[in-house]
Amino acid sequence: MEQVTRLVDANKGYAAARASVADARPGRRLAVVTCMDARIDVFAALGLHLGEAHVIRNGGGRVTDDVLRSLALSCHVFGVDTVVVMQHTKCGLAGVTDAELRERTGADLGFFPIDDHTAALRDDIEVLAGTPFLDSLKVIAGFVYDVESGEIDDVVRWEGPTGR
Ligand SMILES: [Zn+2]
Repeated sequence: MEQVTRLVDANKGYAAARASVADARPGRRLAVVTCMDARIDVFAALGLHLGEAHVIRNGGGRVTDDVLRSLALSCHVFGVDTVVVMQHTKCGLAGVTDAELRERTGADLGFFPIDDHTAALRDDIEVLAGTPFLDSLKVIAGFVYDVESGEIDDVVRWEGPTGR
């Protein structure tokens, strides 16, 4: 419980000094889908500031149904037209199988493990580009973030048909 108290205490200093953004629409019209990995500071790594992007995180940074649900809102309620999917090196979902993860967690779920980052990014971008309710997207990109060097590998870029 000490952990929770630390959070509440930390907030006292934050609230007084925080930057405040009135507009809920991301200023860069951008959504970033990435892994929940504790080593990734998404805003710092991509030069983003508060209010500029939606950040949707899950295990692996994979495009699941719930990511599509969030992006439907990003695109149609909040004006997002660009999506970056960012996987990373040393990911807990890389090099494992669904069977191993089911055994380890006791959860009978599809975990979207990653065999090969480029292939997984291409698959996820294909899902995004092929989702009818996301057809207003103009640009989709796939990155791999190196958790050791902090550098990004700009792996896949997709651009919607011009005039769309
Ligand atoms: Zn990860």
